[in-house]
Amino acid sequence: MGVAFAFHWQAVWDGHSPDVPLATISQCLNLPPASTVIPMKPLLLVLVLALPSFGEIETDANQGGRPAKSEDVARTGKDGETAAGEISAIVRAVLEKELRGTVRDLVAFKSRSVGQPGNGQAAAYLHERLKRIPGLQVAPLVEPWKNVIATLPGTDATSRELFIVGAHYDSMAVPPELAPGAMDDAAGIAIVLEMARILSQSRFKHPILFACWNGEEVGLKGSREFVQQLLKDGRRVSLYLNYDSTAFDPQHRLVLDVIANPPAAAARKLLFENNLRHGIGFTLVEDRHACHGDHTPFQEAGFPVINTHQEDHGAHYHTANDTLERVSFPYAASNGQLGLSIIATLADRVVATQNSSQPTP
Ligand SMILES: [Zn+2]
Repeated sequence: MGVAFAFHWQAVWDGHSPDVPLATISQCLNLPPASTVIPMKPLLLVLVLALPSFGEIETDANQGGRPAKSEDVARTGKDGETAAGEISAIVRAVLEKELRGTVRDLVAFKSRSVGQPGNGQAAAYLHERLKRIPGLQVAPLVEPWKNVIATLPGTDATSRELFIVGAHYDSMAVPPELAPGAMDDAAGIAIVLEMARILSQSRFKHPILFACWNGEEVGLKGSREFVQQLLKDGRRVSLYLNYDSTAFDPQHRLVLDVIANPPAAAARKLLFENNLRHGIGFTLVEDRHACHGDHTPFQEAGFPVINTHQEDHGAHYHTANDTLERVSFPYAASNGQLGLSIIATLADRVVATQNSSQPTP
């Protein structure tokens, strides 16, 4: 990444001030290209041939991001190959119709803006959706922000690791009564729910938490409240993966912006590798957006963070026209696949259960 990235990084991540007016907090800046576009597909064959075995990569990534452990080393070789196959099955389990169904249901609330009836209705809907997924522990809704939080417990009760995947369910438009927020951020919530549905069918060594935040558009309220509580409890986060404005791709370009902070270097490396390994097919760029979002409180706490972002917001961002038809479901599905591949690897899938995924009941 070098000096240029480090300088740019400071500009992106340290610019937040509590004095910034609320209306600007979640706005995104499109930055001039700060890094080279990496044409992934032409490089696929060369890179795949050059990649070491899955187990070697995983060990290497682990050594870069968290202390190497004996279990990590033991997962090289034959076991590693088995794990790679199981993770491929998890990646392939993403269903576009599940994503579409969630977005359709959320936009039906007309507006999920804070203060609108649809905001509370969406919280209740998401709470119910997560409670219907076997294996998840769903927290009660707590005022004032009513984040919807579900945890997939890890098999290692002594684990100090915690992986979090999140998106925000509130929306924004002027006037606030009609803010469908399909792309921003019903589609992100749909990805989080789909990851919860799929990952809950396996067992992982470390816990994975699925978060639907509220109040992002009025100052990152829900995620800030959550991070403050985490810090009070002395918890640390191994990786926070944020999905916000990650589903607009009208020309089917499959260009995905990856914004990772330095503590997330190993996970970022894994993301680039998995894009190739699992044939996900994104052209990955980096640091094109300087967005404050629900990743910001995690970043400010010093936790590893990856935020992925669509190439462009389009003209319908934060308007009444951010509707279901704008959402590129193949793009959203691919982004969900990428996240699944990372979380399933890092949270350490330990027991194969069923590979075939059941659609939402
Ligand atoms: Zn958003």
